[in-house]
Amino acid sequence: MDDFLLVLNAGSSSIKFSVFCIDQQESEVVIKGQVDGIGSKPFFRAKNKHQEVIAELFLEGELIDHHQALKFLLGWLDTHSPNGKIIAVGHRVVHGGPDITAPALIDDQLMQLLESLIPLVPLHQPHNLAGIRAIAKTRPDIPQVACFDTSFHTSCTDMTRRFGLPEQLFQEGIRRYGFHGLSYEYIASVLRTETPEIADKKVVIAHLGNGCSMCAMDGGKSVDTSMGFSALDGLMMGTRCGSLDPGVLLYLMREKSMGVDQLEQLLYKESGLLGISGITNDMRELIQSTAPQADIAVDLFVYRIRRELGSLVAALGGLDALVFTAGIGENSAQIRQRVCEDAKWLGVELDESLNEMNKQALAYLSSSKSKVPVLVVPTDEELMIAQHTLKIIHARK
Ligand code: ADP
Repeated sequence: MDDFLLVLNAGSSSIKFSVFCIDQQESEVVIKGQVDGIGSKPFFRAKNKHQEVIAELFLEGELIDHHQALKFLLGWLDTHSPNGKIIAVGHRVVHGGPDITAPALIDDQLMQLLESLIPLVPLHQPHNLAGIRAIAKTRPDIPQVACFDTSFHTSCTDMTRRFGLPEQLFQEGIRRYGFHGLSYEYIASVLRTETPEIADKKVVIAHLGNGCSMCAMDGGKSVDTSMGFSALDGLMMGTRCGSLDPGVLLYLMREKSMGVDQLEQLLYKESGLLGISGITNDMRELIQSTAPQADIAVDLFVYRIRRELGSLVAALGGLDALVFTAGIGENSAQIRQRVCEDAKWLGVELDESLNEMNKQALAYLSSSKSKVPVLVVPTDEELMIAQHTLKIIHARK
């Protein structure tokens, strides 16, 4: 009988999952998949460890919610992993507030705290918590662990966390939290084992996916990051605007009578690469497109990284390595090349042929003359969650 760990990442209309087979301290993904279209046309798809599709089906009924989708998933897993049992579930939870510095076993007290944070991330946290509640209801015997996107940045000082707003608002929690922490933590752990000569130095990581952010790390700890109070701040993203003069919001409210919901839609869903190009939020398509607006969108994407990199290097007081990760960072040689071209003043120099090669694991991309090593490190937030969950479950025994 094998033991399995289930890792869940519940979003607004999808639940991504990974099943890890646990063998002593090691864990390996055996099934990965997702339920998409929750609330509209739910579709389930799963692949095995060889990337072969092992299930593809529409779930009956348009009104399937997170709870029903998870019930289906657990039932499906029971019949498709007959030689073992799920011993724990690890969840990605976007917000842990200012004080939670590490993953935690979920109990009623923690749930209450996480619920109190919903107003800070209304588009994400409710879905994360719905996933936890659904498991607690369907399988109350299974221990659950929450892993937070904010925890990694709790090492930042209050200086980097404060906005120039009245102190009372800071005390009430209006501060920079930072996100993508599980990705940064994973990369910090890979650097520690694979490139210890870099891990303890000043490193900037560019997590460039649909959501994009950058993190300034010193000695493996976050000292500053581009995302702030929400996941809107900093770099321009697929559909999110990135840094924006707050005066724009006042103008849109006053002159265009925009309400909260409209602004939320505009800033989260209709801006960024999609808003500027008017074509798509998909970087691959924009790079291939000949439309002038696609070029403008990609140019601005790169320029914002240039600005943010300068700012984070100033925060660190130097730069010893630059790391690319996530969908665009891992796969787009062109974006990496343009970012590094802009960063020449920092002593960054790419090796073009290394940059062009397809990267499945940590790899150096810089030339031998480069003062600052450039690396690509594929991120793995699910593995990070699995490792944390396993550690907490073992410590409990
Ligand atoms: P998420 O933030 O949703 O996890 P990903 O990390 O998967 O997103 O990144 C998605 C982005 O990566 C998309 O914009 C996609 O176009 C981009 N991407 C993936 N492969 C490539 C590629 N070969 N070239 C350029 N962009 C790519």
